Amino acid sequence: MTTFFSVTVSCARCGTMSEQGQFGSVSSSGYADLDGRRPGRIRATMSAWLQECPDCLYVAQDLSIATAEEAGIVKEIGFIEAGLCEGMPDLAIRFMRRAYIDARTGQTRHAIWRLLHAAWVLDDFDLDASSVRRQAADLVLSLGDRADAEVRLLRLDLLRRSRAFTETIAEANQLLKEQLYSIFDK
Ligand SMILES: [Zn+2]
Repeated sequence: MTTFFSVTVSCARCGTMSEQGQFGSVSSSGYADLDGRRPGRIRATMSAWLQECPDCLYVAQDLSIATAEEAGIVKEIGFIEAGLCEGMPDLAIRFMRRAYIDARTGQTRHAIWRLLHAAWVLDDFDLDASSVRRQAADLVLSLGDRADAEVRLLRLDLLRRSRAFTETIAEANQLLKEQLYSIFDK
């Protein structure tokens, strides 16, 4: 059984108090998708994965915590709302906002996952998530040598789901070659 409750949190950026949803225990069954997406009840908790200030647009796992850099980036967020998020459900926008904060503060891996979460929400609304997945795939590329096998496999899945099939096949072949070389080198 999944239990939800609400907590009152003060925004670390602007001091506004707000009620934020949280979940306690979550029961789960079934397996995750290729891109890590969990089934059933865990999916239903997504609305409580991030807290969102109703006043200043700051988004974080815990609204009461913000570095000066994170708080500063929020000023730029209006531009995402203006264009990139048009027609998106509020929950997807929340994940996009946090992805933006993470990407601009050098937390690239977090940004990749937040974009993926936004894509899951769009999937649930039967909306096209290709451009969001493409952004996440591009962020994996920006990691360069810091991209491990896990995120490179995730990039393949992001490309596949954004219908970039030629790139998917080329990169899958490259990854396979590298894996084989690393086995033969041992
Ligand atoms: Zn705030």
